[in-house]
Amino acid sequence: MVKAAAEVSIIDGSTWKPLLMLQIVDVCTHTGQKWDSNDYRLARFNLAQKLINKSWAVNLIAEIPPREVPDRVVWCDGGSGAEGHPKIYINLDKPGPNTCGYCGLRFVKKDLH
Ligand SMILES: [Zn+2]
Repeated sequence: MVKAAAEVSIIDGSTWKPLLMLQIVDVCTHTGQKWDSNDYRLARFNLAQKLINKSWAVNLIAEIPPREVPDRVVWCDGGSGAEGHPKIYINLDKPGPNTCGYCGLRFVKKDLH
């Protein structure tokens, strides 16, 4: 977010002052990154807005309910093609949801009796 802090006249004796001083207020990211308003790295946001993803991956994957499967062992490749990860096998003998170590999808053994 850019906001005008103060307008300053150019003519002020022999010293030069900028016509308009901008103060950039940094927005905190999901990792807690926030720069001081005087930090030089904020210069990149003079003309462009800082884009922050408000959807955390851990929350998005938690919204997907565990998949019930009848088998003792399932495999997960995270999706198709480039969207996925190496194929791994997950043992479902432990009770409750078992999580894929790559993508966080959860699988649970469906009791058929
Ligand atoms: Zn996976």
